[in-house]
Amino acid sequence: MQRLFFGIAAVFVAISGVSGNLRAQADFKPKIELKLEYKDITQQQADTLLAQATAGLAQVMTYLGKQKLEGRIIIRVADSYTIPYSKWDQPRGNRVNGEILIPGNRVRGDVRGGPQRDWGRGPAIVHEIAHIVAPSGRRDRYLDEGLGVFIQEKFSPKGDKSYPNMGYDVHEETARALNELGKIIAMSELETERNARTFGPGRKVAYLQEGSFVRYLIESNGIEKFMQMYEGGSYEAAYGKAATSIYDEWIAFIRPMMGKFRY
Ligand SMILES: [Zn+2]
Repeated sequence: MQRLFFGIAAVFVAISGVSGNLRAQADFKPKIELKLEYKDITQQQADTLLAQATAGLAQVMTYLGKQKLEGRIIIRVADSYTIPYSKWDQPRGNRVNGEILIPGNRVRGDVRGGPQRDWGRGPAIVHEIAHIVAPSGRRDRYLDEGLGVFIQEKFSPKGDKSYPNMGYDVHEETARALNELGKIIAMSELETERNARTFGPGRKVAYLQEGSFVRYLIESNGIEKFMQMYEGGSYEAAYGKAATSIYDEWIAFIRPMMGKFRY
């Protein structure tokens, strides 16, 4: 994991557990320490972000069956970052060591520049936590990103406007974006489409499709089967069907929504 230095400018630190208004699940206290280093945002904004991350971490660990993990995650906030981003050491046993970088404007909510619909207005902190707590280890990241988007929708606070669904229902926003793009991206093209640009409709649609597809899988068959497949199992073993035939089922699910939801 790469170290980052913050120059001479003041960096403030907050550690989970110090803040008073945490709403983590009472029955589960993660053994992962959360630390927040920030500049370019207020202390109140930092407190809110850390509380959100603390609650999100407990929920995500519980939901994904990752309660045994321990270690730490450092969240850094600064204006010098362009998009929310996370990195982590390869997990060893139950040890987690991760880092999340969040642009200051995603925390302040004053994002400017670029087409409005293509830029997230929120920190996507729960999405990034999901990456660190549950990396699939697969080379193609469509399931990882889909899980991140699904988890962000499921566990983010009310009013959160994080990329790519900006607070709208993921399936509906996917249908809107697909309408505008004029095509559905093939499963094998998602990775390429997502990585092709730093913003724009193709990238956003890729994230949305991945999120919608993972949500469809989990809501149709449960989180356990999903995790079994996600962590190295095959679609056939988990679902009794090939990946492409489940993707076709998802297309049949989303296509009728495409005329219904528009920008
Ligand atoms: Zn992601």
